Amino acid sequence: MYIVQIASECAPVIKAGGLGDVVYGLSRELEIRGHGVELILPKYDCMRYDHIWGLHDAYRDLMVPWFDGAIRCHVYCGWVHGRLCFFIEPLSEDNFFNRGCYYGCLDDHLRFAFFSKAALEFLLITNKRPDVIHCHDWQTGLVPVMLFEIYKYHGMPNQRVCYTIHNFKHQGVAGANVLWATGLNNEPYYFSKDRLMDDTHSTAINFMKGGIVYSNFVNTVSPHHAWEARFTAVGCGLGNILHVHQHKFGGVLNGIDYEVWNPVVDRYLSDHYSSEDLQGKTLNKKALRERLWLKHCDKPIICYIGRLDEQKGVHLVHHAIYYALHKKAQFVLLGAATEPGINSWFWHEKNHLNSNPDCHIELGFNEELSHLIYAGADMIIVPSNYEPCGLTQMIGLKYGTVPIVRGVGGLVNTVFDWDYDENKPQEERNGFVFYQTDNGAIESAIDRAIDLWYKSPEIFRQLMIQGMEYDYSWNHPGAQYIGIYDHIRHK
Ligand code: ADP
Repeated sequence: MYIVQIASECAPVIKAGGLGDVVYGLSRELEIRGHGVELILPKYDCMRYDHIWGLHDAYRDLMVPWFDGAIRCHVYCGWVHGRLCFFIEPLSEDNFFNRGCYYGCLDDHLRFAFFSKAALEFLLITNKRPDVIHCHDWQTGLVPVMLFEIYKYHGMPNQRVCYTIHNFKHQGVAGANVLWATGLNNEPYYFSKDRLMDDTHSTAINFMKGGIVYSNFVNTVSPHHAWEARFTAVGCGLGNILHVHQHKFGGVLNGIDYEVWNPVVDRYLSDHYSSEDLQGKTLNKKALRERLWLKHCDKPIICYIGRLDEQKGVHLVHHAIYYALHKKAQFVLLGAATEPGINSWFWHEKNHLNSNPDCHIELGFNEELSHLIYAGADMIIVPSNYEPCGLTQMIGLKYGTVPIVRGVGGLVNTVFDWDYDENKPQEERNGFVFYQTDNGAIESAIDRAIDLWYKSPEIFRQLMIQGMEYDYSWNHPGAQYIGIYDHIRHK
């Protein structure tokens, strides 16, 4: 099959979170399975150009219709660790992708509506006719809408769309001017409940809803979250439309790219290790302590790696720091906050704990350091309020870093409680799970983990090994996506 992924991120060149990892990892897996894959991405000024090989002109002067006129674009092409990527650069005063950031601008809805339009225009003009277009999240929700309402009639009648929702929280809710901008000209037609009208704000359109309505298949990134999205508040108002389209909606668990996230080959680690020989993990723990000025002692290290925002349960993260220190553990946090209040809160904590030899708080995004933390820590906490899939617990498992998670979303599908999981035999359990959002809930899970570490090191080691032996690679999800593509192609 010939598959084109249209997305706003692709790791490691553009990565704000798990979306980037997934777009890269899935593309690689599809290629390993013999399919042709190309990616279309925005050409941001702030992306990691050092991860692109052979960047060159692919198409000059692509005229993309926009409002009453058009915006001229150049399209560049290069390889990101073996994946063929096209980068779209609009040349207009709007400066859509020269903002020093990926997201967070007031006109984000226009930036990504334009990107979606330009991606389709590029496919059309260059005669690329993929079997499947795979789009991701709200940023590309308008791709299937424009494909089936406009481009289908301009020479793209046979393309099919798979639409993956990584986070229901951000849906792309915007004013009707976006319809006008993108050439979806019949406003009353699109502004209806069964098409793009937002279910909460009846004067706004919703990109993600458009993606759900128009795509041939829609999925979110774990089976449990697919259920939650339909039946609980985490669907953020889209539960209804998912009911209507339930016949084409499902959950596919994300994978981890074991070329990147694997203690046996990790390019950022000087000491490699595996479940058969854990010696290297001890050396990484030592290296982590040296790197972050932590005291060398006989204590477990608990870590948190991830965005610092409400979704991730920041209050529990904050509580866990102090609780872990109180329970004779060390704590390492690597995280970035976009919300100013949360940012200053954690800066305050960082300063407060600065001289504590058992704790290090690193604020910012640091890919390389994240690898050392996964490798050097003993446990990783993921106390999310909701979690569509979650990668950090799966990465932690691969590195023998035992996850302590809240039982929501994809965490339910990947972490099985050592003491209480009745559906798994003891030899298949791999972490600790708690359910409530109060401090007591995470405390009791941390207690169980720390107790096991101190009192039964051999059993804790067995738990680590069981986690390392889980296969959360792209192998299984890759096969599932190919099944979906096959299904929608032949419908
Ligand atoms: P989300 O996509 O909601 O941010 P995921 O758990 O799906 O969360 O993916 C998070 C990814 O981003 C993981 O690869 C994690 O290691 C990485 N990550 C998150 N925050 C940071 C950070 N501050 N520095 C380095 N990597 C980070």
